[in-house]
Amino acid sequence: MNWLPLLHRSNDVKFLIFGGGQVAQRKVRTLLKFNCDVTLISPQLDSSLQTLVTAGKIKYVAAEAMQEHVLAGYCVVAATNKADVNQSIASWAKALSCQVSIADDPQNSDFIFPAIIDRNPVMIAISSSSESPALTRYLRNQLDAAIPTRIPQLAKFVSRLRKSIRLSVESTEQRQRIWRKLMSSAMPNLVLAGKEEQASDISRSVIADEKQMGEVFLVGAGPGDPELLTLKAVRLIQQADVVFYDRLVSKAILEYCNAKAEMHYVGKAKSDHAVPQEGINQLLVDHARLGKTVLRLKGGDPFIFGRGGEEIEQLAEDGIPFQVVPGITAASGCSSYAGIPLTHRDYAQSVRFVTGHLKDGTANLPWNELIHPQQTLVIYMGLTGISHISKELITHGMSTDTPIALIEKGTLPEQKVYTSTLSEIAGVIESNTISAPTLTIIGDVVNLHKKLNWQ
Ligand code: SAH
Repeated sequence: MNWLPLLHRSNDVKFLIFGGGQVAQRKVRTLLKFNCDVTLISPQLDSSLQTLVTAGKIKYVAAEAMQEHVLAGYCVVAATNKADVNQSIASWAKALSCQVSIADDPQNSDFIFPAIIDRNPVMIAISSSSESPALTRYLRNQLDAAIPTRIPQLAKFVSRLRKSIRLSVESTEQRQRIWRKLMSSAMPNLVLAGKEEQASDISRSVIADEKQMGEVFLVGAGPGDPELLTLKAVRLIQQADVVFYDRLVSKAILEYCNAKAEMHYVGKAKSDHAVPQEGINQLLVDHARLGKTVLRLKGGDPFIFGRGGEEIEQLAEDGIPFQVVPGITAASGCSSYAGIPLTHRDYAQSVRFVTGHLKDGTANLPWNELIHPQQTLVIYMGLTGISHISKELITHGMSTDTPIALIEKGTLPEQKVYTSTLSEIAGVIESNTISAPTLTIIGDVVNLHKKLNWQ
């Protein structure tokens, strides 16, 4: 792209136009529409330009183009019918660092004139970067016919509405939602049809409905260390009126909530759901319907083994606005804080996250796919199943001396890292009291822990 479309404040730009024919006339007419200061220099003028001069719309110097006509600070248009004169004008202009446009010579011009569709205050400028004026004209005509003539009225209506929404709605998020709804409501068409009163009624009811509707923030709280929260997570955490949080969300993170916020623990220890999943989904919907800003705070990343998808599915079905904020997932947090890179050019080119949650005593995993050279395996929720999982991996061909790490309470002050091998990990679990949450990492990268453990 060689041309930058910008909008200039037009009455601050002064133009010198060289030429008195058709081309000059087209430029002058455009510039006058925008109230630009225009001076025309030409030995003769065609009649319509003469009319503009007589009416005092433009200043006029009756003379052949000369260097002293060009003044610093002006935009210069060289539009005489002589190419060599235009080139001279351009070189005088460039010597004074003026912006210059040469008729029929975009290559040497600093600016060019786009085709314009004018629905003041709405304006559409079209350009083919001077490649095809015929195409530009074609597009201009097509668009001109397609764009309603009452767009200026709509622009004024929307501008008035914007002022009143700014005054009455504080939250930026809520304002954005109101605008999305307003612009897809019947309002624009009603204004375009001249029915402004009806448009006002509809706008008022869209705004009132939206103001009564709360919003849900599904936020990833990361693995535990509060400094691993994102800036966005902190901002939304502080805004919430009601908070529903999991077991995995650390106390230090809950401290960021507004002191007046209503706090609800909804559990999620493996088999102890303080509130069942469907109940949580419904709680979010019910509180948002009361006009509350609801925070659903989940450990790690809500979309990684977090059922975040299920919770917002219900919100989407019920038309409740929501936002999702990713968090640092346990795999990233634990691997960083244990000094175990998940990938490494020498040891692992891929990484796979799986859940080790047992159902009917089995993890039900695609074992053959997990046994891959140079692949790191990360197992979430696997602590109780780890003996079963390591046996299955060995049965399916993984080497018994494959390194394995258990990271207990990763990123928290109580973090502990146990390293062992696939055949010996069961013993490690038996002889230590390891508690949840614990993440398992399997693969050669685990050997780097000894060297890279920085905690
Ligand atoms: N959505 C979460 C994962 C929820 S599943 C995330 O993205 O991290 C719960 C499992 O995550 C736990 O059983 C444990 O395996 C792992 N986990 C979460 N936080 C952890 C932590 N601080 N230390 C170790 N493992 C953790």
